[in-house]
Amino acid sequence: MREPRGERIARLRAGLLEAGMDGLVVSAPSNIFYLSGFRGSSGALLVTSERAVLFSDFRYRIQAKEQASECEFEEVERRLLHGVGRFAREAGLSRVGYDPAHLTCALREQLAEGASEVELRASGGMVEELRAVKDVEEVELIRQAAGLADAALAYMVSLLRPGAVERDIALEGEFLMRREGAEEAAFEVIVASGERSALPHADTTGRELERGDLVVIDIGAQVAGYCSDMTRTFGVVSLSSQAQEIYRVVYRAQRASAAEVRAGAVCGELDAVARGLIADAGYGECFGHGLGHGVGIDVHEGPRLGRDEETKLVAGNVVTVEPGIYLEGMGGVRLEDLVVVGDEGAETLTGAPMAPEVPVV
Ligand code: ZN
Ligand code: ZN
Repeated sequence: MREPRGERIARLRAGLLEAGMDGLVVSAPSNIFYLSGFRGSSGALLVTSERAVLFSDFRYRIQAKEQASECEFEEVERRLLHGVGRFAREAGLSRVGYDPAHLTCALREQLAEGASEVELRASGGMVEELRAVKDVEEVELIRQAAGLADAALAYMVSLLRPGAVERDIALEGEFLMRREGAEEAAFEVIVASGERSALPHADTTGRELERGDLVVIDIGAQVAGYCSDMTRTFGVVSLSSQAQEIYRVVYRAQRASAAEVRAGAVCGELDAVARGLIADAGYGECFGHGLGHGVGIDVHEGPRLGRDEETKLVAGNVVTVEPGIYLEGMGGVRLEDLVVVGDEGAETLTGAPMAPEVPVV
């Protein structure tokens, strides 16, 4: 039987060796899950050249054995990072990395106290780099999550009408995803209507839809720890010509940039494709976020498809392509697909149709 997590740990070890370290303390829950399978809320993982040891407390003893069966388990009653440090010292490790983005100063101190004599080195992003390239099983889980969001969106669209309440529509979508097998929504479902659709990260409110509204729906499901992410925009009954125009511009920008996604494409250049089309249409100031982001265990992870990003995509990256135009006081449009990068192009995981003209309900 394949041991996907064993392979991940092996790749991490190769990186450690290259960086001249003989251990890494992994403290971010999503990184621990990626490497070990453990999903408890409190834990740390120490990966050395020969061992992978999961540290947690009594509450997680049974769960750790079930979920992280490829790792050893060490129970630590209190001061978890102190225990990890002490273990590293007793194992005779000499240079151990940790991720400063995922360890508070207090916990770093605890680790150092326990690990006296061991050199601690800040070395962030090692696990995130591995996570950016998905294996077949990971893509399959993301595909399942995307399918649940597709089904939820189709149902939510049937509820769009003047007088319908943003929050009710969002709840119906989340309920459907969970009933069909999602662990939870990947993030709080966004239904943003009217002027509120101009907020890229709008909260869903008690607002009632009105004629002439643009409605942005941004939705994702989580399946076995993996997320999906998708956005579609709709119009209610009748739309202004400007609302129709910005939709067309965003659609063109989405299609044109998505068509360029393939292994070897430079992230910043993909962003520039969409940004150029939006600027040419006169809305350059109204697209204030990056083109997209990686999606996996976290809904926002690497690689970033942002302005001037020099990273090149590689096969197995799963990224969003989501240009938008946001007009304060009027409304906004965003269209977001989730794609998996291949050598020749990209496969779209999002199944909901994306119409070239704004779909009016
Ligand atoms: Zn989204
Ligand atoms: Zn997104």
